[in-house]
Amino acid sequence: MPAFDLFDYARQFNNQEIHFKYDAESGLAAVIAIHSTRNGPALGGCRMATYASTERAVQDAIRLAQGMSYKAVMCGLPLGGGKAVIMKPSGAFNRRAIINSFAQFVHDLNGRYITSIDSGTSVEDLNWVAQHTAWVAGHTKGKRAGGDPSPYTARGVLKGMEAAIHYYLPNRRWLDLTVLIQGVGHVGYYLAKYLYERGAKIIVSDVSVTAAQRCAQEFNAQVVDVNQIYRTPCDVFSPCALGGVLTEESVRLLPAKIIAGSANNQLANLAVIDTLKQCNIHYVPDYVLNAGGLIQVYCAHYELPMSEADARIDEIYPRLLELFRQSTSEQKVPAEIVDKVANEKLNRQEVILEPN
Ligand code: NAD
Repeated sequence: MPAFDLFDYARQFNNQEIHFKYDAESGLAAVIAIHSTRNGPALGGCRMATYASTERAVQDAIRLAQGMSYKAVMCGLPLGGGKAVIMKPSGAFNRRAIINSFAQFVHDLNGRYITSIDSGTSVEDLNWVAQHTAWVAGHTKGKRAGGDPSPYTARGVLKGMEAAIHYYLPNRRWLDLTVLIQGVGHVGYYLAKYLYERGAKIIVSDVSVTAAQRCAQEFNAQVVDVNQIYRTPCDVFSPCALGGVLTEESVRLLPAKIIAGSANNQLANLAVIDTLKQCNIHYVPDYVLNAGGLIQVYCAHYELPMSEADARIDEIYPRLLELFRQSTSEQKVPAEIVDKVANEKLNRQEVILEPN
């Protein structure tokens, strides 16, 4: 296998810049990938995870940063895309020291990158970051605090689901639709709540029995075992747990008509798009659908009213309808055209917004 070439990889993803910080004293080893600041500061979460190698951590940051640019541009936000990755030390470590050092790393970029929450980091971490830099969003204490974006993400997913049902299953109503939710954590729980309020039949599956049972009790949801999920008949399958769950194997098993969920990077690889076509399953591209959280974080950071967030989330419905229509006229599925659409918008949009 050829050796990994960092700069080739960055070029492949049209990445604008990459920053590294190693701090022996705290133990911080982190990467910040900025895909683009063309439309505004690069906003994206900070992931803390155990990586097999620095190469994997850098790849993760670069790939995820591009996704953030696409997500922002598709919902018309004056933001760029970036992502931070902290390589979790093996063994015991001083979390506070690492987060403080990371906050300084973010601060040194002088607003080119705004950090937020991602898997492995918490609101408490962000509250620490906010003590050192203003370039943070999604924290709960201090200036520009926003709190949990998950209800907003769930509302956006619901809007997108409605658009997909309207386009691909016309004449169907919530009362005669079954939605299967994989993962009822922060987003999945709210999604179940909203679907219950609309009268849909809900099936949930979660590795946490407590999380699944809560939905059974509160929303009359049926619970299925995680090993049975891809064999469970439903109209809409909603992955709200992990990325990479749509594989050729899982899609072939899945008796669903639409896939619409909040998880990032649901397609395990691009070959899955062909499998989805063969199985006649309509997959709604994740980064258009799950932008509600980013919209809320943006509004909180720039001190805009949450009514603005709500209005922007409502726009997910017509945006997706437009994408579905375009895909039909080009005789392709939405997943085949969405990156091209995002890239075109990225090269067109020229709004630059500096934080207040
Ligand atoms: P979360 O960790 O709160 O919830 C995930 C849930 O999935 C947990 O209850 C967990 O027990 C469950 N789970 C894990 N593995 C599972 C499996 N194999 N089968 C079934 N359930 C499983 O996360 P979240 O904040 O709700 O986010 C869910 C997904 O949406 C993630 O992929 C996240 O990246 C994405 N996302 C979240 C937001 C947000 O606002 N929170 C925004 C955009 C995208």
